[in-house]
Amino acid sequence: MVFEASDRVGGRLATWRAEQGLVFDMGATLLAPTGEEFRGLLEGLPEGRRPERIGKWIVPHEGLRVLPGDSARNATPRYAFPQGNHALAEWLADGLDVRLHAAVQWLDRLKGGVGVRGDRFDAAVLAVPGPQALELLETMGERRPIRPDGYRSCLSVALGYPMDAPDLPWFALIDPDQRHPLGWLSLESRKVPGRAPAGWAAIVAQLSARASADWFELQDDAIVERAAGFVGRLFGRGWDAPAVARVVRWKHSQPELSAMFESVNRPGGTVVVAGDGVTKGRVEYAYESGRRAAALLLEGWEGHGG
Ligand SMILES: Cc1cc2nc3c(=O)[nH]c(=O)nc-3n(C[C@H](O)[C@H](O)[C@H](O)COP(=O)(O)OP(=O)(O)OC[C@H]3O[C@@H](n4cnc5c(N)ncnc54)[C@H](O)[C@@H]3O)c2cc1C
Repeated sequence: MVFEASDRVGGRLATWRAEQGLVFDMGATLLAPTGEEFRGLLEGLPEGRRPERIGKWIVPHEGLRVLPGDSARNATPRYAFPQGNHALAEWLADGLDVRLHAAVQWLDRLKGGVGVRGDRFDAAVLAVPGPQALELLETMGERRPIRPDGYRSCLSVALGYPMDAPDLPWFALIDPDQRHPLGWLSLESRKVPGRAPAGWAAIVAQLSARASADWFELQDDAIVERAAGFVGRLFGRGWDAPAVARVVRWKHSQPELSAMFESVNRPGGTVVVAGDGVTKGRVEYAYESGRRAAALLLEGWEGHGG
């Protein structure tokens, strides 16, 4: 049974669809499998549900000056789903018993099991950001070596325009030093097909860790104005005035410092912590940590003749 606090599955695999037909990834922008397990998952998706390979490059910027990209770095295959990256989470949740609007506020330690929202289970996997896992563990009087302050925040800003995005060899800009407030810019409508109707552009700006922390409490309009101002400086007049916009505030965006899965989870336990707080801030690693959590639980049960 999956208990999900919000009104949808996927967490930071989060897609916003604006009514004009624009599709924005507000969380994870791309999937770049480095291992067989995740690559196998993506390749094994049924026809029509597979992601598209991104053909364009990611290039660096220095103070909004676009620099040449690195061919070696851009050789890694990267993927995104035309319908939005949350499609992967929806597909994984297909057929599972998912309870939405079901925040878990505490865990009860029971003999040979764990109590979650009034029901008894043999085991529980906490697939939430590290600091939130820590809080839940504390409700059952447990401490584990997870850092309470390991995550950076991120303001993610969707910007939609009634004009085509420039057709460039790159789809994304990154500030490798994260000195500029524009940490990342993704031309969603140039990333993979299906992200915008003809004559429309969909762009996502992610602000740097520092700018996100400094501006986190600002009103949406003020954040949009700043983000769109950077796009205007890159592409010229009109790009500073989007027709549609949306801000997502990620308090726990990606871990700067993750704990190690094996130092947080011991064989034989009934509560296993998964998610990127015990690996690294990538969808691939979060996925693999869930598989590891399942394997650890099964190992414990087999060891006890279960
Ligand atoms: C802006 C941004 C850009 C990113 N870009 C990339 C990228 O390009 N590529 C990449 O691979 N990764 C990227 N990442 C990182 C990636 O999204 C995460 O590492 C990964 O999705 C984490 O998955 P998770 O399952 O550990 O946690 P989450 O996706 O955060 O899922 C946790 C879920 O638990 C729910 N929840 C929390 N507390 C409770 C509770 N008490 N009870 C019930 N439910 C609860 C939440 O609502 C959420 O749905 C990005 C992240 C952000 C924010």
